[in-house]
Amino acid sequence: MNRPVEQKALKLLSKYSSLSQAIARSEHPLQPYEQRWIDVRGVTSDEQFAYLKQQGLAFDPVDLHHDEAVKRCVAYAQQCQKSHVTDLFLSSFASGRLDYRSGLAPFAMMQTMPDHRFTPSSAPHACAICSGWEICKEVDATDWNVDRHCAGSLGLLKTPEVIQFYLAQHLQLARQASRAEDFRIVNAVFDTLRSLDAGIKPTDVHRFLRNIAGFKATVYQCRLLLEMLGIAGILETGNQKGYLTHYTNPGLAPSKSHKSDWAYPVDFWTGADGLNQKALAFWFGDYPEIRLA
Ligand SMILES: [Zn+2]
Repeated sequence: MNRPVEQKALKLLSKYSSLSQAIARSEHPLQPYEQRWIDVRGVTSDEQFAYLKQQGLAFDPVDLHHDEAVKRCVAYAQQCQKSHVTDLFLSSFASGRLDYRSGLAPFAMMQTMPDHRFTPSSAPHACAICSGWEICKEVDATDWNVDRHCAGSLGLLKTPEVIQFYLAQHLQLARQASRAEDFRIVNAVFDTLRSLDAGIKPTDVHRFLRNIAGFKATVYQCRLLLEMLGIAGILETGNQKGYLTHYTNPGLAPSKSHKSDWAYPVDFWTGADGLNQKALAFWFGDYPEIRLA
């Protein structure tokens, strides 16, 4: 079932940061930069954390082994239905429930992520295939849930311990029937992306999308939307493919420039690349309301 998310809880969750919690727990006198961080971000109190847990939004830290994380990714992805993922993706737009769209990127990654055991690499403790750690100590899923609910997709980390969390959360969400308003907004997003000038880069796109009536997104929310469409293969290039057809180790994925920290492959995308028709048809071909070209 989909429990309503209380606005009070969402606001508290949006302010949660495991770094703030760690600084607040430290036993040494705080460094000026630590104090500044706490001053800006605040600290979630034990009572607030307990409330978030009771709302199903916060989680106690746990240790998670790489192989267990991959096992869960594979099992959860098998339980996921594509239409459940896309129904929820579409219904995130009119409802403003960003967590509804957060199943798309992890489910897309599981289309090609190999089922594998931890494989040592030259980087200490990191897997050569997926960049996941051999053992993740004190995994803080609450941090990831902030991205799910407040930004709508995978944030910086795209490794198995994060993917299994997103998929597990997705599986708990009931289907939502998409509304005419959802289709209108999503069609407008795709039409806008199709019509951009050749030289437009992902960082420029927010100023075009924000003109769409009913499309409410901060710069960061818009960025994660474009990143998830890249991961899903819709915003890819001729040489840099999304995860629908090619698995790329997210920790070793190339960047367009040393300054760019956008996710692969949308980092390389420009308006000239347009929308990948095949990927669009794979995800949304069963919805006559969605324009595929
Ligand atoms: Zn791995």
